[in-house]
Amino acid sequence: MIQEKLTEVRDNIIQSCARAGRSPEEVTLIAVSKTKPVSAIEVAIAAGQTVFGENKVQELCDKREYFQNPALQWHMIGHLQRNKVKYLIGKTALIHSVDSLRLAEQIDAGSAKAGAETDILIEVNMAREGTKFGVMPEDAERLIRVVAALPHVHICGLMTIAPYVAEAEDNRSIFRQMYQLYIDIKDKKIDNVDMKILSMGMTRDYQVAIEEGATMVRVGTGIFGERNYNR
Ligand SMILES: *Cc1c(COP(=O)(O)O)cnc(C)c1O
Repeated sequence: MIQEKLTEVRDNIIQSCARAGRSPEEVTLIAVSKTKPVSAIEVAIAAGQTVFGENKVQELCDKREYFQNPALQWHMIGHLQRNKVKYLIGKTALIHSVDSLRLAEQIDAGSAKAGAETDILIEVNMAREGTKFGVMPEDAERLIRVVAALPHVHICGLMTIAPYVAEAEDNRSIFRQMYQLYIDIKDKKIDNVDMKILSMGMTRDYQVAIEEGATMVRVGTGIFGERNYNR
């Protein structure tokens, strides 16, 4: 089941790329395994998946420790509390959810201590939802400029969590605005900033996100099935 769904998602990615005149190699699929057991992750690994997304520090570290497989990447996609940062340093390939200088400073300090550099994305609340984390789009450049000055974090791009909508098309304009912001900031050529990753699109809308320029899509339900939070 997981294997078939993974194949289906990969096929959809190829088709979305074709529609947009893009190469499928430009798009990385993150299999969002939060709440799912290691047995489900094992099936995905057997089907060739190497990049996984988690939204809790403890769960990410436990799963990483369980697999002990350097070929796997563990991405932190959820809101990150500053007091949890120290557990995450050195364990994650990319933190998608940096939205404040204070959080970036904590990651910088933890990385310095570990003699590491941590790759991050800046999370943008493009739809201005009161319930969501992320910096407002008009404040993104200012935040990026101050975070870029921290020596042990490396900004690799932008991330957004689009609204929960009935139709994927309803998020097209949000994705388009994200792509524009990404290009605008890329064009500023800020020191220590590499605008090469645009993380957007989930199960419901990743195909539209790819058409609008996503380079990373985060798909959970579409691969592993519905999550059950009451186990
Ligand atoms: C859970 C989650 C996803 C995956 O959501 P699905 O709808 O299951 O694909 C993607 N991004 C973030 C930040 C998440 O927390």
